[in-house]
Amino acid sequence: MSKLTYPKYANTCGWNTMLPPRTPRAPLGEDITVDYAVVGAGYTGVAAARRLQELDPQARIALIEATTVGEGSSARNSGFTTPDVLPRTASMEMADKARNQSRLFTEAFDWLLGIIRDNDIACDMQKVGSIRAAATEEGEASLRKVAEVARANNLQHTILDRAGIRERIGADYYRYGLHMHDTWLLQPAALIRGLADALPATVTLYEQSPVREMRRESPGWRLATEGGSIRCRTVVLANNGFIPRLGYLKSRMATIFTYAAVTEAVKENDIGHLGQSPAWGLLPSHRLGTTLRRIGRDRLMVRSLYAHDQEIVQATAERQLRDRFHRRWPELRHVDFEFIWGGATAFTMNGAPWWGKLEEGLYASGGCNGSGLAKGTMLGRRLAELIRGVGDAGEVETIMGEASWIAPEPFRSIGFRVISALESRKAGLEA
Ligand SMILES: Cc1cc2nc3c(=O)[nH]c(=O)nc-3n(C[C@H](O)[C@H](O)[C@H](O)COP(=O)(O)OP(=O)(O)OC[C@H]3O[C@@H](n4cnc5c(N)ncnc54)[C@H](O)[C@@H]3O)c2cc1C
Repeated sequence: MSKLTYPKYANTCGWNTMLPPRTPRAPLGEDITVDYAVVGAGYTGVAAARRLQELDPQARIALIEATTVGEGSSARNSGFTTPDVLPRTASMEMADKARNQSRLFTEAFDWLLGIIRDNDIACDMQKVGSIRAAATEEGEASLRKVAEVARANNLQHTILDRAGIRERIGADYYRYGLHMHDTWLLQPAALIRGLADALPATVTLYEQSPVREMRRESPGWRLATEGGSIRCRTVVLANNGFIPRLGYLKSRMATIFTYAAVTEAVKENDIGHLGQSPAWGLLPSHRLGTTLRRIGRDRLMVRSLYAHDQEIVQATAERQLRDRFHRRWPELRHVDFEFIWGGATAFTMNGAPWWGKLEEGLYASGGCNGSGLAKGTMLGRRLAELIRGVGDAGEVETIMGEASWIAPEPFRSIGFRVISALESRKAGLEA
């Protein structure tokens, strides 16, 4: 396992670079004492800090971020979000579970929408839906089962055939699609920057302050960064796939990297190749498949690939993303990528997060992978409620499940390579 306790990326986040520069908050440069320390200013950490403030208004809360807000994974993602839970591969037995999860997500999602509205966070949020699409016969069979769950759970959707997808996205690549109406597309760096900048005054955000170690120090905890330290009663670990790097949940989750690229603006005579929908997003039917998005009027985004524990060589990531782009839009081979970046998420064996109390004064929410925008917000918010003894904490674990055991190294890396190879073969042209 890499020794770094925080993510350090080869490339900056394209979404962040597309925005005007933001002045980060100062790093932690002294020894301080607070009531709560939240590690990680992504969706989970920001939601936990804000909810703690709502429930304990006088408390001093430190939110500590390794990088700058806008450079973490909460900015590096593809910007799809929905309160509706619809598993990638679904069976009717999953419909009940998905319905219960949607209830939890909806509560947090409405809270998030309220924060966005009240603070005028401009993040280009558009409810244009998302297309779940299949390029292969197996992918179509799997998506047809997902459509049954969507129907059973009354999720608004439209079935698309090849021509319908082609009309929307301009590529002839997909044979079957499910247009889910209740999905928003947004600019993720603008959202997380807006959320962090709108935090209440009792929450102090420290950026460029990776927590390097933590230890119990009666009566609470001491966290050390390069420039200072924090003493507190309660710690919230909201650093997702990097929780194990601080010594916790090592047998429950692993760090995974995935990649995205955004093209340069295409020329006027190529605009027609991007489809007739002015804004669209497409999600794959297979978990190792490729996500696509039209950005603004004239760019495309391609998200794909997974790597365990460490980033892959940038040239390899670029070559493979280019291959996925060219297969779908052969007529746009002359269009270059302007931005390419990787982002870390967490992998858990059964897909469930780890959420709850680890020991006295220590809480964690990690293992968030896809849907992290809505899921992280929900889990962070609910974790603050667990800490403050508000609401029905038990239902989160019952409904979301708990990350199961993962084998230690070297079996983990070997397992990851084997599963990746098998799944990539299965994914075929969905990748
Ligand atoms: C390319 C890509 C595309 C994705 N697409 C989507 C999508 O379309 N929709 C969606 O909902 N989800 C998507 N995801 C997943 C989503 O981004 C994550 O699930 C989400 O970011 C999880 O939020 P989080 O707050 O739990 O973790 P993070 O966003 O990872 O936040 C954790 C923060 O902790 C910080 N940190 C780590 N270690 C330390 C330390 N030692 N000290 C201090 N700080 C630390 C990190 O810098 C980071 O900012 C995507 C992810 C990637 C990478």
